[in-house]
Amino acid sequence: MLEFHEALEKILKHVRRSLPVKLPLEDALGFVLAEEVKAREPIPLFDSSSVDGYAVQVRDVQHASELRPVRLKLQSVVSAGVTPHQSLKPFHAIKIMTGAVLPQKADAVVMKELVEARGEEIIFSSPAKEGASLRRRGEEFAKREIVFQKGTCITPPVIGMCATLGLTSVKVYRKPRIALVVNGNELRSPSSPLRRGQVRDSNSYALAAALESAGVRPVLVLHAGDNKRTLTKAFARALKSADVVLSAGGVSVGDFDFVKEVLSDLRVRKIFWRVAMKPGKPNFFGTRGKKLIFGLPGNPVSAMVSLETLVMPALRKMMGSYTPDVLHDAVMDFDLKGASGRIEFVRAFASWSKEGVLTVKPASRQGSHMIGGLADANCLIVLPKEQDRVAKGDIVAIRFLSWNKI
Ligand code: AMP
Ligand code: MG
Repeated sequence: MLEFHEALEKILKHVRRSLPVKLPLEDALGFVLAEEVKAREPIPLFDSSSVDGYAVQVRDVQHASELRPVRLKLQSVVSAGVTPHQSLKPFHAIKIMTGAVLPQKADAVVMKELVEARGEEIIFSSPAKEGASLRRRGEEFAKREIVFQKGTCITPPVIGMCATLGLTSVKVYRKPRIALVVNGNELRSPSSPLRRGQVRDSNSYALAAALESAGVRPVLVLHAGDNKRTLTKAFARALKSADVVLSAGGVSVGDFDFVKEVLSDLRVRKIFWRVAMKPGKPNFFGTRGKKLIFGLPGNPVSAMVSLETLVMPALRKMMGSYTPDVLHDAVMDFDLKGASGRIEFVRAFASWSKEGVLTVKPASRQGSHMIGGLADANCLIVLPKEQDRVAKGDIVAIRFLSWNKI
């Protein structure tokens, strides 16, 4: 059986980055930049005030103090969005608003709160430093400076920065089209009453929701029974319309687990079947041309943990931004008996203690069929396969679950 890290390596080796596409800026959230972005002009474009106040020449107020205040004459007022026509005269001050262009000859702005305005006279009781309360032309980015590297994830501030640069569209990597195939004769929709032996299909909902929270809503969700005919039909359709096919169920060693056979008949090349991980042992991975096929186990927690640990890295690489999953150290708040000779992903909840220590407690429902236990978790404790027990107070590695955003 493959080790978890070997399985992940094999998957990533087969992943090709998607082709780039140009998108309107407002549609680009969650994509990854497929081009370097440069400043076409200095940012900011002009010297301006960072406060509401008075533009002055520093030398005019250099001796100002509480005891010997300096009085300057109000010359004019400049508001944001207009170009001041006058340059500042000696022993004058120009009233200036936040973001307004700094008049020529002014070399500092004094906050409104620090002066006293008496009609046409402005009284300063402290000196100003050259450059005080100013935003300088080009101080954030010089003309032609690189603002974003290729591979940058487009977050809300990235969108704001692109707008600041005057971009209305950006080149990004396409997101993969994903099809889901859930299977099992026992599955019923949530709206159906259950007969004994039947269970409600939670995988198509949970997997689709996890994908959606990563910005890749599946284009197709198909249902099949435990027979080759419906499985073949569903997989053939999924392979036709998607870049990545994810199935859940029917991939283990049961008499009616036909997924591997059906995929082989559909010319899917098996890369691996079975991974030394808990949950998630029956995972299958194969390719057909550039298409990736993941056969996830049907148990709801196994399916979701496999999605998170094996599939999401592949999707992120396709979308142009693969970085290995981040692990954090956390202190165990509980004794835990480990596995199994397999790497184990224990559903758990991590929080900061009053002392500021990241502390983690396993969820109470650990069965791989218990989706409620995963719903209680915000992270997975990653136990190496050698580790057979962890005591309260021990340090463990955890990884936060990607869908826990709020
Ligand atoms: P399988 O991998 O097909 O052997 O399924 C393993 C377990 O997961 C069985 O108990 C199934 O009933 C259950 N299961 C499979 N698919 C789903 C699903 N879509 N929703 C909920 N449970 C499922
Ligand atoms: Mg089944």
